[in-house]
This record gives sequence, structure tokens and C-alpha cells, in this order.
Amino acid sequence: MANSNKRVSLLVKISIGFVLGIIFGFVIGPVVPESHVLSAYVMPFVDLVGKIFLRMLMMLIVPLVFSSLVAGTAAVGDVRKLGRIGIKTLVLYLVTTAVAIVIGLAFGNFFQPGVGMNIPAGLTASAREAKAFTDVVLDIFPTNPIASMVNANMLQIIVFALFFGVACIIAGERGKKIAEFFENVAEVMYAVTHMVMSVAPYGVFALIAVTAAKFGVAILAPFAKVIGAVYVACVLHALLVYSGMIGIVCKRSPVWFFKGIQEAAITAFVTRSSSGTLPVTLSNVRENLGISEGVSSFVLPLGATINMDGTALYQGVCALFVAQAFNIPLTLEMQIGIVATATLASIGTAGVPGAGLIMLTMVLTSVGLPIEGIALVAGIDVILDAARTCINVIGDTAVCAVVASTEGEELNS
Ligand code: ASP
Repeated sequence: MANSNKRVSLLVKISIGFVLGIIFGFVIGPVVPESHVLSAYVMPFVDLVGKIFLRMLMMLIVPLVFSSLVAGTAAVGDVRKLGRIGIKTLVLYLVTTAVAIVIGLAFGNFFQPGVGMNIPAGLTASAREAKAFTDVVLDIFPTNPIASMVNANMLQIIVFALFFGVACIIAGERGKKIAEFFENVAEVMYAVTHMVMSVAPYGVFALIAVTAAKFGVAILAPFAKVIGAVYVACVLHALLVYSGMIGIVCKRSPVWFFKGIQEAAITAFVTRSSSGTLPVTLSNVRENLGISEGVSSFVLPLGATINMDGTALYQGVCALFVAQAFNIPLTLEMQIGIVATATLASIGTAGVPGAGLIMLTMVLTSVGLPIEGIALVAGIDVILDAARTCINVIGDTAVCAVVASTEGEELNS
């Protein structure tokens, strides 16, 4: 009970930090001149606090993912069961992502955010090229797992950890000892996560204040329709798809679900990184939803890397936005093409800030839209990134709860 009170108060503090940060940023940013002491001294300090919080989250990722994935894989104890969970997870990830893009496209068609902009093709922009699809696939496989860890290449770390965890099962007694060792490492990493999360209210305040100060309210007006389309579609996707999954499969209320993962959702919103949020996501689903270590350490690291419903949805809205802005009619076949490429693009998107914008080039090129369109959304990408990352993370937790339920786990009530 004391523990749950402590968690509630941390959540309240994080929420207060979030709201105060927005107010602080919106007031300071546009109002205070650059030479003022607040802008000259206080803002850089606030920025520093946010950056330190981000780094502390990042510092957890590699050791936590590797140790918990090895421990989780080995804890399943049965290679066949592992295969079953793996297939279920991948299918759910793919289906929810495809539904997200369809919702994104529907909202793009409905809001018509780019209509009337009449931009002639030929505008120059410096968009970074997305990688070829074959390279994305090849990149999943590590040549040197230590190098993958040094570079925090999550997909490669996951692949190696899966091999390692399965091998722990196969290798008998000795494998068990190694799995136990990684279980202990994971446990210690959770303790470090809690230490980092205790300063989250300040980190959240700082991150959101700096973003709000940079953008102000006025800059949002010309892009209100795109921002509105992405945000409303995100909320709808969460309310329909995730609440539906949780209600039908897990037999729990949406309130129970969203309350349980609230810390992770806010952290995702302000850090704009699914990978950075992973430690919080893991601790939320275990402690608040009651999901086992075996399922969560398998499903969530994978999701933080390949399941990006928010990113896919955003790519759907933005593809339509660009087509409308350049007056290019999008046929139904082209829209179906967007569903296919955006699903793949979202899998290849790294769980770091801004990655989805780069992958948008792949989607635009594949359906023959001008990649200069990237320039249109680049200015407000931070605002869109916050919403999509939040949905990316919530999507991982919803699938995690569904997999746990279908594996017969009794979730918290
Ligand atoms: N920032 C997103 C994430 O980490 C990826 C993206 O840019 O779409 O989930």
C-alpha cells in the first residue's frame, strides 16, 4: 500500500511537472527577450536538466534490454512456447500498425490539411534519404554483438539476446546459471530505473518547457490542421483499438489500462523516444498491470524497436498532406501502397526522436510523391513526434497485455 501511494504521488508529480512545463515554456518563450536573465541563464539551465534526464534514461537501455531479454527468454523455458508468443506478438504488431495507417489516411482525407497550399513541385529541401529496404533487413543481423551494444543498435541487440536466451534453455544446467546471472543484472537495472524515475518530474518539466518555449503558441496556427489531424487520429486510435483490445481480450476497463501506463505515456511524449522510455514502460506493465517478466521482457523491447503505430499513422496523414499541398491526386491504389510501405517504414524506424520523419521519405518516394514535402512538416516535427511516440509506446503496452492475457496470465485488477 505504501508502495502504491508512493507511485501515485510520483505520477501526480510528473503530471504537475508536465503542465507547469508547458505553461512556463509558453509564457517564457515568446514573451521574454533573449537578453533577459530568464532566457540567458534560466533557460539553458532548464535545458541542461532535461538533457541530463534524457541521458539517464538512455544509459539504462542497453544493459536493461539485454539482461531482461535474456532472462525473459530463458524464463519462458520452452522454445515452442517462445515461438508461439513471438508469432502472436508479431501478428498483433503488424495488424495494429496497419489499422493505425488506415485511421491516419481517413483523417488525412477528412481534415484535408494540405488543400489550398498550392505548392509547385521543385521546392528544394535537404531531406536525408531513407535506407533501402534490403539494407534495413540486413541491418537486423549483427556482425559483432559488442559493437551493437556500443552503438545501441536495438534490433541487433534483440537478435543476439534472443539467440543467447534460447541457448540458455538448450544448454541445461550451465545455461540456467547464466540465465540466473542475467536475471540478477535485470533486477539491479530495475532498481537503477527507479532511481532515475524519482527525478522524472523535474526532467519532464524541463523537456516540455524547452519545447514549448521554442515553439510558442503562434507558430502552430498555419499547421493547425496537420497537427489536429495527427493528434485527433492518435487519440481515436488509442480509444478505439487499444481500449477495444484491452476490453475484449483482457476484460479490463480502458481506465485501468491508461492509468497503469500513464507514466510511460508522459515520458514518451516528452522524450520522443520509444527506446528511451522502455525502462519506464517495463516497470509500468509489471507493477501496475501485473504482466510477467517473461512476456514483458520479450514483447516490449521488440515493440520499442519495431512497433510504431503512431509513426505509421503520422506517415499516412503526412503523405496525404503532401499530396494535397502539391495538388497531386492520390488514387486508392496509391493509398493502399502507402499502407504497405508505411507499415514497413515504421518497422525500420528507430525508437529515437525524429526517426519517423526520415522514414517518411521512403513512403513518399514509394508512391511517387515529391520528397520536398518533408520540408513542409520538418518545422513542426517535434510536436508531431511527441504524439506519435506516445502512441508507439501505448501500442506496445496494449499488445503486451493482450499477449499476457492469451497466455493465461492473471492481470491486476
Ligand atoms: N520518435 C519515435 C519513437 O521513438 C520514432 C519516430 O520518429 O517516429 O518512437
